[in-house]
Amino acid sequence: MEKRVSEIFGSMVFNDEVMRERLPKEVYKSLTKTIATGKTIDASVADVVANAMKDWAIEKGATHYTHWFQPLTGVTAEKHDSFIAPVGPCKVVMEFSGKELIKGESDASSFPSGGLRATFEARGYTAWDPGSYAFVKDGSLYIPTAFCSYTGDALDTKTPLLRSMDAISTQGIRLLRLFGDTTTKRLSTTVGAEQEYFIVDKKLFDLREDLQFTGRTLFGAPAPKGQELEDHYFGPLKPRISAFMADLDEALWTLGINAKTKHNEAAPSQHELAPIYATTNMAVDQNLLTMEYMKLIAEKHGLVCLLHEKPYAGVNGSGKHNNWSLCTDKGKNLLDAGKTPAENAKFLLILAAIIKAVDDYQDLMRISVAHPGNDHRLGANEAPPAIVSIFLGEELDMIIRSIIDGKAYEGVNAGIMDLGIPSIPTFRKDTTDRNRTSPFAFTGNKFEFRMLGSSQNIALPNVVLNTTVAESFRQFADILEGADDLDAAIGKLLKETFAAHSRIIFDGNGYSEEWEKEAERRGLLNLPTSVDAYKHFNTEKNIKLFSDHGVMSRSEIESREEILFENYSKIINIEALTMIKMASRDIIPAVNAYIGEVAKGAAAKVSFIPNANCEVEEDIIEKLSDLNARAYAYVEVLKEADKAAIAVCDVEQRAEVCRDRVVPAMKELRAVVDAMEEMTSSEFWPMPTYSDLMFKI
Ligand code: ADP
Ligand code: MG
Repeated sequence: MEKRVSEIFGSMVFNDEVMRERLPKEVYKSLTKTIATGKTIDASVADVVANAMKDWAIEKGATHYTHWFQPLTGVTAEKHDSFIAPVGPCKVVMEFSGKELIKGESDASSFPSGGLRATFEARGYTAWDPGSYAFVKDGSLYIPTAFCSYTGDALDTKTPLLRSMDAISTQGIRLLRLFGDTTTKRLSTTVGAEQEYFIVDKKLFDLREDLQFTGRTLFGAPAPKGQELEDHYFGPLKPRISAFMADLDEALWTLGINAKTKHNEAAPSQHELAPIYATTNMAVDQNLLTMEYMKLIAEKHGLVCLLHEKPYAGVNGSGKHNNWSLCTDKGKNLLDAGKTPAENAKFLLILAAIIKAVDDYQDLMRISVAHPGNDHRLGANEAPPAIVSIFLGEELDMIIRSIIDGKAYEGVNAGIMDLGIPSIPTFRKDTTDRNRTSPFAFTGNKFEFRMLGSSQNIALPNVVLNTTVAESFRQFADILEGADDLDAAIGKLLKETFAAHSRIIFDGNGYSEEWEKEAERRGLLNLPTSVDAYKHFNTEKNIKLFSDHGVMSRSEIESREEILFENYSKIINIEALTMIKMASRDIIPAVNAYIGEVAKGAAAKVSFIPNANCEVEEDIIEKLSDLNARAYAYVEVLKEADKAAIAVCDVEQRAEVCRDRVVPAMKELRAVVDAMEEMTSSEFWPMPTYSDLMFKI
């Protein structure tokens, strides 16, 4: 088995090994330099690379190539062109030029642009991202690309991501230079995204329109058993799940994705897959592929993978933990505390920069995870609250406290650094407790951003992390580069920064009500819904941040905000319409039919025994008739609310009406329907129940 895995691993990827083997030495060197430095590639080099890629891809069975990109729809897009070029009647050769590799033209008119691209200028361009490997899948060579408008505005999630990676590298290197590092040329952020998901039987899924149209159940009374016995988490894998996971691993390994850990999660039929981390742009691409393959492979097993944040009420939803760190081009993780005082100081400075970034830009952190699906999780006692805070662990907390107070740190092996600040003792990673309730936790040598939704493209959260930390780095470098006494300046800066931003550090229970009050007292932002969050996107502060670092322009931010608002309303609208349809055409008629059946039964009974006891029948008929009448009325309320929302032209106001009228109307309707489900004969209930969906695999 071991040999087989190592043979298939990355076998469909045009990776470093293949490049080295297939490219002339000079071309290989030039390409790897491009990848390492993030610079653009030479046209002559591109021609050679394209040709080698094509030959390799054809050997792997490819006939087409596609520029694979990430428009603002949240999913990926692809359009396939074949390699064929006619060279006479009935004769073709296979061709692929450097130009075709580097740049593609695509009609962009049907992708969301948030007003960035007028419809008369429908052209969009895709541009190769050599930092993420090309791969062959289903007979096509996939080339990861960025997607821009004719005027160069980013119409995708990758372009700002690549720009943010440049920004943090540029500013981070300025700091490293201060510590005498003269050789590091590139700093990369690394990301490992732990992906949660649910699995449901395809036959049952096909009987639920809510799952089909919205990815979650819009109705459903709780099953007698949920996750209270905690017997699913890390429990043994059922054979169908295990077979699915094995196929998924194999497919991902073939594409060079380091699928590493798989296990059952907390809720029934919930699972998780964690990869080994990669450079951020690659990690984003790999996470998108992972999600795509989860769905694809599940279908092959007669299953459906639900990536929605909250498929079922009453049990945990799914998130995604974005493990994030900083790494030099020599492979040194800068969030490893290190052993010498100088390494300690560098670590503390980077830590201070991150704490400052998260505090200064809480709004952006929150926005980056705001999604209607995630509104069901954040703050619902199963995921971090909607308030952003940082968890550092007891030891780092004490170190920071001692720096703020100017006192010696009294930990194990502690000493005093030249900087006049306490040094970190040999840092014990296992002392960083795993506070599951923290939105952003330090876990020894990386931060774990835990607010992300399972269905989300992880690009934006990482754009935010990279850019906000780049800004802290910039400010620090500006101060320190001019310092006469660097050590003293670092000591002062650390003390000031920790003191100014310690409010964002919190190691208590993030699920508690006290924390909400305490956070308010500390002046931290609490943005409970996506709509609350989106409003903060295009503030002057945020526009300045992104444009200063060349990550997003004012118009790119405004367009994204518009798309977020629009997307919110569209999703709520689809959910509302699905509920209306299911209630009107399936549920209300089913309950009526059952009422009729009970009445018929009672009448039959009385025809035999005139004074038979019909209390049960009467009670059922009375209660269900009443509930059904209420359901019918709530359908009308929901219709009205949805109509009112659609009538609003302004995208922000429309989203507000969705949040304030449509969502509450949906909740009312659901409550009544769920109550009817608990009283209606299973024979009459028109769809699979929670017991079926979560336990029958
Ligand atoms: P856990 O106990 O939470 O599973 P792990 O150490 O196994 O912790 O890591 C979880 C995720 O974090 C994995 O995807 C792993 O690859 C990723 N990870 C580990 N180190 C780093 C790093 N330096 N940068 C980014 N992600 C990392
Ligand atoms: Mg984790």
